Amino acid sequence: TYIVNDACIACKYTDCVEVCPVDCFYEGENMLVIHPDECIDCGVCEPECPADAIRPDTEPETEKWVEFNRKYSEIW
Ligand code: SF4
Repeated sequence: TYIVNDACIACKYTDCVEVCPVDCFYEGENMLVIHPDECIDCGVCEPECPADAIRPDTEPETEKWVEFNRKYSEIW
């Protein structure tokens, strides 16, 4: 799965949302999040993010962001 990290905060771009084939972006409190169970790992959104906030969960220390993304995509 891919996740959104805090580089997204206050970002006004939603290019990522538009390209996602499964619509798994959700509105968090002050940033977007990806539902980790709905993301199909296609990677299409990553280059669209001008803030470089979309990262694969294979990178170190992304576990807390996976949980954060899950929490805020299920909250509403
Ligand atoms: Fe959507 Fe693909 Fe990005 Fe996952 S990797 S959030 S499925 S565009």
